[in-house]
Amino acid sequence: MGEMHTNIWRVDAEHPMPEDLQEAAEGLRRGDTIAFPTETVYGLGADARNTEAVAAVFTAKGRPSDNPLIVHIADRSQLSELTAPPEEAVSRLMDAFWPGPLTLVLPVRQGALSPLVTAGLPTVGIRIPDHPVARSLIAAAGCPVAAPSANRSGRPSPTEAAHVLGDLAGRIAGVVDGGPAGVGLESTVVELRGDTLYVLRPGGVTGAELRRALPAGVRVQDAVEAPTATETPRAPGMKYAHYAPRGSLTIVLGADRAAVLAYMRRELEMARARGERTGALLFGAAGGRQAAEEQAAGMLAAAADHIARCGSQGDLSSAARELYGALRSFDEAEAAFIVAEGCGEEGIGAAIMNRLRKAAAGRVVTL
Ligand code: AMP
Ligand code: MG
Repeated sequence: MGEMHTNIWRVDAEHPMPEDLQEAAEGLRRGDTIAFPTETVYGLGADARNTEAVAAVFTAKGRPSDNPLIVHIADRSQLSELTAPPEEAVSRLMDAFWPGPLTLVLPVRQGALSPLVTAGLPTVGIRIPDHPVARSLIAAAGCPVAAPSANRSGRPSPTEAAHVLGDLAGRIAGVVDGGPAGVGLESTVVELRGDTLYVLRPGGVTGAELRRALPAGVRVQDAVEAPTATETPRAPGMKYAHYAPRGSLTIVLGADRAAVLAYMRRELEMARARGERTGALLFGAAGGRQAAEEQAAGMLAAAADHIARCGSQGDLSSAARELYGALRSFDEAEAAFIVAEGCGEEGIGAAIMNRLRKAAAGRVVTL
């Protein structure tokens, strides 16, 4: 595709002025592809009714056309044109989590959206983002906005406008820069079938939060992870990597952190010996235990060209916010071989480890 000029509009994240969003909103109405901040990650938006505009999103991202897009709306009044009235359990989830990082997969009204948005499925994923810029922009555009993450397909999702430009400058009409995204990971995607709520993708809303909000009698089926049979040392990857840095990333898991760090160091040293540039991802020690963090980084310092520290084991929401920035930092460091430790899987930790496993494409070593 030919290079196009990519506009950048800087706006106040909390109080975006309508005039600052006007050009971007007009662009969306015209069929342009425009990236904007949400409380999860930056999205690449297009008018969800306009097939040409939606096609341009797939082209800019290099996204396979069988992967449907989430539709973002500004408020619940926009829902009735897209889907039939929601069931009671679904209404409860909307009451509890909208606006917010929960995408509901619902039966789509025939003809309401471009068929590219749903990838031919009879359903559409919909959410109301909890970000003043996203909601003001969607309201000003006056249309449902299809918006996958604003990254090249397979890359870590963007949590800053600079990440969007790194991947998509020259390929999209513009980006609204509202500073860093909030949660740092994509929305939780769920679908109610009968009396079971299936988590299709873990994310900003946790399983425990969903269970608390649902009426009695509706059970939650947690996301099914990729097969763990491939969890042998340096097993070749699963079919594809997602959220991935350019270098190859291996996760090292184990109850004994000292053993994990020692294994990581050996792997880094071997990669060095092969002549590869190396990187390591560490989660901060719980409770900000400075000495433990320095010791961990110190153990790897001699063998790693770049060490990315990602939030804290004691505050996993900080790890969620920093994960994609940390993964992208390995590209800046031109690391070809990367080892990562794991974090706890409670709460948002489940979503963090889901993304990290995909970034590793099945390269998981369990000690
Ligand atoms: P992203 O494009 O990165 O925002 O991711 C969108 C996610 O939502 C992908 O995992 C899609 O497969 C999922 N998704 C979107 N629409 C649907 C749908 N109608 N049914 C099932 N999953 C969906
Ligand atoms: Mg994505």
